[in-house]
Amino acid sequence: MPSCPNCNYKLVLLPKRKYKCAKCSKLFLQKSTEDKDFQNWNKNQRRLDEHNLNLENNLSKSLKPKLTEEDKKKYRLEYYSKNKEKFKKYTKNYFNKNKEKSRIRCKKYYETNKDKIIANKKSYYKKAKDKINATKKLYKLNNLERFKMLARIRMWRNKQKEITLQFIENSFSEPLNQQLWKVLPTKLLAELLNN
Ligand SMILES: [Zn+2]
Repeated sequence: MPSCPNCNYKLVLLPKRKYKCAKCSKLFLQKSTEDKDFQNWNKNQRRLDEHNLNLENNLSKSLKPKLTEEDKKKYRLEYYSKNKEKFKKYTKNYFNKNKEKSRIRCKKYYETNKDKIIANKKSYYKKAKDKINATKKLYKLNNLERFKMLARIRMWRNKQKEITLQFIENSFSEPLNQQLWKVLPTKLLAELLNN
């Protein structure tokens, strides 16, 4: 039942679509009184909801434990691993669009954090040593033929180098002439001696 806008006392509904206040005897139209009453109720309800929401927020804020740095790090890592592909794509796109800028920034970052980066790498390798060695071993096993061939090539290169050096020594012991440079192209000589 609505209450009197004048004195706030409870109104009584009369047969002719009118409300009457039992205290101040004023009459009010039923429709407008009920509309106003509903509006007031609605307004109060909204205020109440807002109040409850605030209360809830404050309560949950005070109940929620504060995140430690460790928690935040964990959360970030989790978020990163969940969105890895997205991050990778974004980073790649950014890098491609800002190649020169990125290169300079990477270099600068490395220069200022050199010690930290080297220490991190070292500690990573120390921690992952067994894993890395196992991977290397497996790779070697899977590519045994290739490694054997590479070893053979290396051996033959060394032999060739020896022969060349011998050849040069012998030529220098003879009266110096241009014969050596005629026999061996300079480029090949340099390549052989560099190996
Ligand atoms: Zn009244």
